[in-house]
Amino acid sequence: MLELLLIVVALAGLVWIMRREAGALPALGLLLILGALGIIFGAVTVGVLLWLGALAVAVCGLPTLRRRWLTPRLFAAFKKSAPKVSETERIALEAGSVAWDGELFSGRPQWQRLLDFGTTQLSEEEQAFVDNQCSVAAGMCNAWEIARTRADLPPELWDYLKREGFFGMIIPKRYGGLEFSAKAQSAVLQKLAVNETLMVTVGVPNSLGPGELLLKYGTEEQKDHYLPRLADGREIPCFGLTGPRAGSDATSLPDVGVVCRGKHNGEDVLGLKLTFEKRWITLAPIATVVGLAFRMFDPDGLLGDTEDLGITCALIPRNTQGMEIGRRHHPIGSPFMNGPIRGQDVFIPLDWIIGGTEMAGQGWRMLVECLSVGRCITLPSGASGIGRYALGWAGGYTRIRRQFNLPVAEMEGVQEPLARIAAHAYIAQAAVMQTANTIDHGVKPAVPSAILKSQLTEFQRNMLADAMDVHGGRTVTLGPRNYLGIAYAANPVSITVEGANIMTRNLMIFGQGAIRCHPYVLDELAAKDNDDLPAFDKAIFRHAGMVFGNAARAFTLGLGIGKPSVPFDEIAAPYAQEVARLSAAFGLCADAAMASLGSGLKKREMLSARLGDVLSNLYLTSMLLKQWHESDNVEHEATLLHYSCRTLLHRAEQAFIELFDNLPNRALATTLSAIAMPLGRRCHKPHDRFTREIAHAVSTDSALRRKLIENTWNTQEAGQKDNPLARYNALLADSERAEPLYRRIAKAYGKGELPAEALHPEQRVEAAWEAGLIDEDDAIFMRRFEREVLEMLSVDDFAFDAFALDKESVVWHDTA
Ligand SMILES: Cc1cc2nc3c(=O)[nH]c(=O)nc-3n(C[C@H](O)[C@H](O)[C@H](O)COP(=O)(O)OP(=O)(O)OC[C@H]3O[C@@H](n4cnc5c(N)ncnc54)[C@H](O)[C@@H]3O)c2cc1C
Repeated sequence: MLELLLIVVALAGLVWIMRREAGALPALGLLLILGALGIIFGAVTVGVLLWLGALAVAVCGLPTLRRRWLTPRLFAAFKKSAPKVSETERIALEAGSVAWDGELFSGRPQWQRLLDFGTTQLSEEEQAFVDNQCSVAAGMCNAWEIARTRADLPPELWDYLKREGFFGMIIPKRYGGLEFSAKAQSAVLQKLAVNETLMVTVGVPNSLGPGELLLKYGTEEQKDHYLPRLADGREIPCFGLTGPRAGSDATSLPDVGVVCRGKHNGEDVLGLKLTFEKRWITLAPIATVVGLAFRMFDPDGLLGDTEDLGITCALIPRNTQGMEIGRRHHPIGSPFMNGPIRGQDVFIPLDWIIGGTEMAGQGWRMLVECLSVGRCITLPSGASGIGRYALGWAGGYTRIRRQFNLPVAEMEGVQEPLARIAAHAYIAQAAVMQTANTIDHGVKPAVPSAILKSQLTEFQRNMLADAMDVHGGRTVTLGPRNYLGIAYAANPVSITVEGANIMTRNLMIFGQGAIRCHPYVLDELAAKDNDDLPAFDKAIFRHAGMVFGNAARAFTLGLGIGKPSVPFDEIAAPYAQEVARLSAAFGLCADAAMASLGSGLKKREMLSARLGDVLSNLYLTSMLLKQWHESDNVEHEATLLHYSCRTLLHRAEQAFIELFDNLPNRALATTLSAIAMPLGRRCHKPHDRFTREIAHAVSTDSALRRKLIENTWNTQEAGQKDNPLARYNALLADSERAEPLYRRIAKAYGKGELPAEALHPEQRVEAAWEAGLIDEDDAIFMRRFEREVLEMLSVDDFAFDAFALDKESVVWHDTA
């Protein structure tokens, strides 16, 4: 009996010590004391075993002992197996900063650190811009007209965007820019997402491009010249990195700049002769200044000893001799300005290099360092914005569209996609605004930017597909009345640009995060590079403590023992505790995968992607919980939070299960699965009752719907293009009155109290009024309501030859 008791106390004590990562001394003390008790009270075998355990802890855990025999061996093995970090990867790893992503990697997230990034409101000026200027700009857009009639934004909109400073949101006020916070930039882009061409046109110059590069690296002359001109739209920039041979692997670009002497403004100067071919360059067809990335060579040693200086970025005015620019590509769905740029032996002076000659060869570092912030904002904001419009339109349409005598929103099959859109939009908005908020606190989120870009644009793809489905033929039919179809078609643009999603998910999120966010791996690699044994010892044994700690936390939390205290209310707290549990399991599995696969993990992209999925879903859940914690929540929002958190945590657990199913080392996989999920799956998909409640709320004039479509263009001013969202909102406000009237009329018709030939709703309203079933007021109301409903159900039709570019080639069919 005593033996058993000693073993149980020893195991429980060790787990407790491991959970707290309390170090070797407490473990040593525990084993020595229990061993002594065993020997004194007659449990000699167990007592001796406990002392042997204490000996093992001492030789492995006490620095003075282990540094003599264990650490040198580990160091030698580590040097052999540690992945080689290429120069390109090193630059990516060094860019940006680590915040909440690092907490999730630690397996012991300190929620207060997240909450310390208190969210501030937009300034009055920023909010006014979102309310006014963004509404005016949105109100000039009709998707069909922009995409098909003119294949461009209207000229008055271009003028307005330039005049109001839309292209200078990131430019400081001293240069004439708006100097908006990251949150305000996001709010602007979310509102402009009502039209994808508008969103991209404004998003790109404010994201990665000359503006950002100049601000960070430009010489004073370059800043003074370009920034005021970019801020007020006198200059329209583009940035050319991609070409026919270099896409995702952008550093392989074959475009060259060779240092030589040449003529500039009649003078003989030192410069670069550029030969390049770029494609898919956004804004290129109308750009006045081109940011160009190329490989710089100095074969004649005119600058020094280095012949291959590396990737370099320069700013080149459009009218530079030899520049071929102006042709257009035709991106799917959207006619935003995009085209190729070519040049053969284009001579530019050296001071057109961004940052001057000093920054020659620093182009890749510059791009990577600038990329993270823009990538967190532009496309994720577009996804959040279009998702919220999709929700507004889908909720509105499914309420007014009646089939089988019911609004289709009342049908469970339709409720499923409606709730999904709501959850995706809710998560996307929380993620983008909360991450923008960390940027406003000075964080440069590198790994979250990859998470947001890929996850939210995938959400966008799902939201648009769901919204299309619930609209049926209404949005399949293109024309001026179709507010959704063109955005749906344009979706692959967001999936592909700024790091194509497949690569971002498979290669970057975990691949970069594992080293970047891990509390110890960077230190271990640095120790290896510097051949620094004491530094390695410190990092590796802290790392070991973390591994044991994560195992103990994941296992005990998986059994429901010792839930951590979290600073959230009773609705959010269980999800925060699940995040903590899965974060411990994630930390453990990340280490196990790295240790078991070593540098081979780079090639096992499917495993890396699943680890990335766990991290992504935990990150998104955390953003949601923070938003919930900080905001005034409305009726039904708790249900949406439950739905969203359960969806994300279920996805995280699913990724774990697929990881365990596919880890090549089966014994390791079984052990990890037993530790991380001792009771099997714990996070289930949301219950159907949540789906029904959310779908009803977002398809009626509810506080939840109003909150989800806050800060979208939902007003209708005179002179503006038709705003379907405003019309749906008005219809939903009226539908509470209309619904009982519909039911009364349908019941009377069913009973044969109205003429059988009254098949149209309008005819039934008249018949019901004549039969005294509804009064005069209700009849007037229903006539107006039905007229508006029919308008919103209607689609466009066109002349037979309307779509042929070459009208001459149209064959008129013989239909006689
Ligand atoms: C409309 C549009 C606008 C653009 N605007 C600009 C611009 O303004 N400036 C600019 O410089 N570029 C621009 N681009 C280029 C864009 O950034 C690239 O398209 C993108 O980087 C992907 O390159 P790619 O299309 O050549 O795909 P590829 O690199 O050929 O990739 C093909 C597929 O393979 C996947 N893949 C590639 N490598 C890996 C890997 N290691 N692991 C897993 N999967 C991988 C990709 O995810 C993709 O799915 C634009 C592109 C488009 C279509």
